[in-house]
Amino acid sequence: MTKRYAGGCKHVHVTASAEPIDNHECHCNVCKTVTGQHTTHVAFFNYGDVKADHPEKMKRVPFNANNPNGPLEICLCTDCGAVLMLDDKQKRIRVAVPNVMGYDDAMFPKATYHAFLGREQRLPKTERRSLGLRRSASRISVACRRVRPKGG
Ligand SMILES: [Zn+2]
Ligand SMILES: [Zn+2]
Repeated sequence: MTKRYAGGCKHVHVTASAEPIDNHECHCNVCKTVTGQHTTHVAFFNYGDVKADHPEKMKRVPFNANNPNGPLEICLCTDCGAVLMLDDKQKRIRVAVPNVMGYDDAMFPKATYHAFLGREQRLPKTERRSLGLRRSASRISVACRRVRPKGG
């Protein structure tokens, strides 16, 4: 398989074989809480394009602590605790946060827009439904596609 992007830790190697389907800078509160960064560069890949060589070493915790039944889970290395990826229980996408998941940030494509800039935005119901998100999960950036591209 072509390895376009490689991340992970020394125990679990995560590789992406295709370009992200969505690549943005997220300002939402969930990302802030999870990464401790004011903004978080997140890249969504099609589920099948991201692989981990030792999935059995991935411990899973809910991405949104306030919505533990939501679709996204944070995968952590059971050996060193490194954050490896965000996984989708429904196997639609896998998410990389390049600068906290061991990717070479300089090699990674730049984010193409900002999500949740200012106040949090809501997705239309139909789109939420197609992503299988509940109302409470709609704040997760997975959802956010309605944002203006960053100028330039
Ligand atoms: Zn976010
Ligand atoms: Zn590790």
